[in-house]
Amino acid sequence: MRIVRYQQKDEAPQYGWLLDDKIGEIDGDIFGRYRRRDASLPRAEVKLLAPSQPSKIVCVGRNYVDHAKELGNEVPKVPLLFLKPPSSIISSGESIVLPPQSAQVEHEAELVVVVGKRGRHITTEEAKNYIFGYTVGNDVTARDLQKTDGQWTRAKGFDTFCSFGPWIDTDFDPSDAVVTCRVNGQMRQMASTRDMVFSVATLVAYISSVMTLEPGDLIFTGTPAGVGPLKPGDRVDVEIDGLGAISNPVKAE
Ligand code: ZN
Repeated sequence: MRIVRYQQKDEAPQYGWLLDDKIGEIDGDIFGRYRRRDASLPRAEVKLLAPSQPSKIVCVGRNYVDHAKELGNEVPKVPLLFLKPPSSIISSGESIVLPPQSAQVEHEAELVVVVGKRGRHITTEEAKNYIFGYTVGNDVTARDLQKTDGQWTRAKGFDTFCSFGPWIDTDFDPSDAVVTCRVNGQMRQMASTRDMVFSVATLVAYISSVMTLEPGDLIFTGTPAGVGPLKPGDRVDVEIDGLGAISNPVKAE
């Protein structure tokens, strides 16, 4: 099932499910008890919003060997974690805003896990029971500030630096899916999720050994090789085969 969050005219945002090009309302808690209404609302009549409202966005650095190498880094022995603030979220279609503090903002195409159940000390075997579904993400990064700051909070945390969507797919198989990123139609990144150093289950277990995961939380699973700069006027498209695609224009602040 594909879960969307959407807004109709001036009404309050709400969750729904997508069937072909029609949306049906969902009554209740998507992570708990809910009821699906018939899918009858044309998708073109609503604005799709980022499909989750996470309490935190946990990200994994250098989880593809070729990407670690392209930036001159070693592959970590354990997952390298960092956070993005929820204030950085935008939906597909909204603009990535290049801040004046950076001269090198880059795209990072990523598979994103959406947590479905509260959990701590989750084992790799139990991990799938805590995963609600998957979505497509762009972990936008000010590469120059990432290098100069050492800590990554500023480089990864600007408003508009976290695009994901357009829906959550609850049935997606993440084991061998092709992730691509195009800028103005030109291919920049392409790799399979099977090349990830640490699997989704390993990441869920490792992160939950540190912090409690909450329903709606996101895990950005790392980006493959091919990251590159964005400039005003660009359009960046991230796609995962069988899952979906997001598209964001780029503009200067
Ligand atoms: Zn990333």
